[in-house]
Amino acid sequence: MRLSFTAGLVLLSCAIAALPAHASDIPKAQAQLAAGPEVKLVEPRLHLAKSEVASRPRVALTFDACMGAVDERILSTLLKERIPATVFVTARWLRKNPQTVAIFLANPDLFEIENHGENHIPAIDVVVPVYGIPSAGSPEAVSREVGKGAEAVIAAGFSAPRWFRGATAKYDATSIDEIRKMGYRVAGYSLNGDDGSLLGAGAAEKRIAAAKDGDVVISHINQPTHAAGQGVANAILKLKARGVEFVRLADVETIGDNDTTAQRPGLF
Ligand SMILES: [Zn+2]
Repeated sequence: MRLSFTAGLVLLSCAIAALPAHASDIPKAQAQLAAGPEVKLVEPRLHLAKSEVASRPRVALTFDACMGAVDERILSTLLKERIPATVFVTARWLRKNPQTVAIFLANPDLFEIENHGENHIPAIDVVVPVYGIPSAGSPEAVSREVGKGAEAVIAAGFSAPRWFRGATAKYDATSIDEIRKMGYRVAGYSLNGDDGSLLGAGAAEKRIAAAKDGDVVISHINQPTHAAGQGVANAILKLKARGVEFVRLADVETIGDNDTTAQRPGLF
């Protein structure tokens, strides 16, 4: 039994390592198998409270800036159309992109900057690879990833972050609890817009343009050479033409599963 599980794990690890970091269509059972029988990984969902106006669906665009550069196709669309968005940045990305940081700082009405960690390490407190990326592996390492990420956001001149989204968007229950106790909500999503920026332009456009009232869209703003970014930019224009109200996570009531946003005494 142990042997067959290990063999299966090796095969599965090879298979999922090639998949995008934020793919949500991987069955949860596979994620659990990859984590081992004792560790249950979750990929929390997050929704917005519904719009009160039926003709004006409400959507939150959230972007991850994991590492690398900035996708000008998306950034210029947001700026030109004056569309608000929530951007999750790592300390690493902040260091490498001072010009974009200056643009974010100059447009506080558009950009809510939140915490994507220090070094883009999955915020999971046990040792387990996720899509081939090693996890933080201990509560101390999760604390460092979250805490140093928040410090970098503040040091760059932004408001103290209230939200955290870890690399790969996967967690275990105890790491969610730890992050909540540090004072942050954990940002899931409801619509995977670009499969870790690996979708084709047309597919990304189609997915995001189909966003419904209450959706929290995740996509990437740090991959200027990938085709997906053009699709993301096109979809933003389509949503605007549809009359969508764009909101940031700070501006609306949100509902997350896996205890990621629920109000509890002493927690934000
Ligand atoms: Zn990321």
